[in-house]
Amino acid sequence: MATDNEPNDRSDVDVDVVVVGAGFAGLYMLHRLRGLGFSTVVLEAADGVGGTWYWNRYPGARCDIMSVDYSYSFDPELEREWRWSEKYATQPEILAYANHVADRYDLRRDIRFATRVERATWDAGDRRWRVITSAGAEIACRFYVMATGCLSLPKSIDIEGADRFGGEIYYTHHWPHGGVDFTGKRVAVIGSGSSGIQSIPIIAKQAAQMTVFQRTPNFSRPALNGPTPQAKLDAFKADRDAYRQAARLSPIGVPAPVTMVGALQVSEQQRRAVYEAAWNSGDLLPTTFADMPTSAEANETFCEFLREKIRSIVKDPATAEALCPRGYYYGTKRPCLDTGYFETFNLPHVRLVDLRRTPITTITNKGIQTTAGSMEFDAIVFATGFDAMTGAIVAVDINGRDGLSLKQKWAEGPKTYLGLTTVGFPNCFLITGPGSPSVLSNMMVSIEQHVDWVSDTLDYMRRAGLETIEPTGTAEAGWVQHVNDGADITLFPQASSWYMGANVPGKPRVFLPYIGGVDRYRKACDEVVEQGYLGFRFEGTGGARCNDGVIRRVQPDVTIVMEVIESLRLPPIESMSATTA
Ligand code: FAD
Ligand code: NAP
Repeated sequence: MATDNEPNDRSDVDVDVVVVGAGFAGLYMLHRLRGLGFSTVVLEAADGVGGTWYWNRYPGARCDIMSVDYSYSFDPELEREWRWSEKYATQPEILAYANHVADRYDLRRDIRFATRVERATWDAGDRRWRVITSAGAEIACRFYVMATGCLSLPKSIDIEGADRFGGEIYYTHHWPHGGVDFTGKRVAVIGSGSSGIQSIPIIAKQAAQMTVFQRTPNFSRPALNGPTPQAKLDAFKADRDAYRQAARLSPIGVPAPVTMVGALQVSEQQRRAVYEAAWNSGDLLPTTFADMPTSAEANETFCEFLREKIRSIVKDPATAEALCPRGYYYGTKRPCLDTGYFETFNLPHVRLVDLRRTPITTITNKGIQTTAGSMEFDAIVFATGFDAMTGAIVAVDINGRDGLSLKQKWAEGPKTYLGLTTVGFPNCFLITGPGSPSVLSNMMVSIEQHVDWVSDTLDYMRRAGLETIEPTGTAEAGWVQHVNDGADITLFPQASSWYMGANVPGKPRVFLPYIGGVDRYRKACDEVVEQGYLGFRFEGTGGARCNDGVIRRVQPDVTIVMEVIESLRLPPIESMSATTA
């Protein structure tokens, strides 16, 4: 199996489709387009496939959606031949899977590796995109697809003096391929999001001294990694089509119980039982109560339960208190699953620096200086996150109709129709773009749905003699409103999270994903098509047409989800009647 790939320096070409990115989205996009007979070139900055799983090689990196769910569903044969070794596969295993997919479907011959896309310009006269790469090549295409990932552009290091440090510097998102040996070293880790929480316990096992610089504590629960739960495997084996369909029609892209019960409708004893089950589930998104995303009072009961757990694990009371998340509600910043994270702070060589009390003033030649004093280190690890959802898209200089710059259009926040398209940029598609469920879901389900929608649309256009597609202003404005309305009834906008763009200085504070769930979202996308591509304008030899309008809210179909849940024999939360409180 090939893993390293030479840059492909073929001369300029004219193709049907250019896809940017060879992560799971780009790979499946290429496979689908090939199947439909569209000539396609994928341009990838890395020298291998896998995207997220190519770049993020830090110790402890693994998925936190179960691997059985976090895998392609488009080919039952692929599913049959691949066996995940654990409930949550490691980064090397997921990368091996991406490589297996690339080999199995012979995808590499149409991927140009080590090729960064720098500019894409719409040529209205020719009805083509002109794509300029870091190698100086120009590729013309009818359709331009950004499969650049929601979490692929690292946030710039915004700590003064970072370039002054004389020791070793590592970034979780760009880890050396050969690994790092921290044995005997004094190591600082800055950041306590998912990447920090996964890597800290493992780095601590090697380091002589370990200091964690934490700005905002995170809610994390034990991953309880191990073999995939037998009930899940059984449900999958019994009827894989029904299982996959249940995932597609579920709110988060994983079959899970749906509850209508509020946290304050049940007794404290019942509430605790649900929270204990969540703690012991080893599941990132266990079903708890219906009002968790919307009621501060309800949500706070879970927050306090989780803080109690931290206090029960971490022996030093001051450290435990500093690790307790406060000031935002559970789920409004991406929660984490860990393996021994809080326990790590009981080790004698590990200490926590609470940056809310003693902020970093500068990084020096020898270490890190806070308002409490200076500390010396041999190595600093930055686990400081990403310019999420929009960063990698606007990092490319994309210019649409009448020279409109996408970066300028989105200066006050992204505006899209369905998270897939944006006004002023004909024949340009975004895979899991802002305004789609993406990061609030099992990304594999969202990726497959977007890729299928785009592929089917291109096929439809070819058959109908249509050359360009662009959303209408009415449709886009309606969708943006719908996305904001959804977020505004929840607690999410209150948190300074990357969902809100709040982690990147100067980034507009806008809720980036669509919170209505993959089930409702899929229905909306399907309904757009059923209504003759509601909200899209087409032009071509087959004529010009426009079916202007706003997609209305749609309800999910939970029947099939419930059937699978029954087969999984998960506890039916609905049966917990409010009257028993
Ligand atoms: P990516 O995998 O990000 O791939 C995008 C590719 O585009 C990259 O290879 C990048 O190099 C390339 N690219 C970007 N810009 C350019 C350019 N201008 N020119 C050329 N190439 C470019 N999601 C889950 O659902 N479950 C999980 O458990 C999970 N775990 C995660 C763990 C980590 C550490 C991270 C960072 C994210 C995780 N995610 C998870 C989200 C993850 O990003 C998605 O699941 C998925 O891998 C995204 O695939 P993608 O192809 O859309 O994007
Ligand atoms: P992240 O969640 O954004 O965490 C970044 C951390 O760095 C935060 O604790 C942040 O603090 C801190 N930070 C940023 N800038 C800082 C500064 N200048 N000074 C001090 N601290 C600073 O990023 P991530 O951990 O890479 O995770 C990003 C997303 O990728 C996750 O939310 C998840 O979706 C995905 N992911 C998943 C997994 C998995 O388990 N499968 C693993 C890794 C990543 P603030 O919170 O105060 O900003």
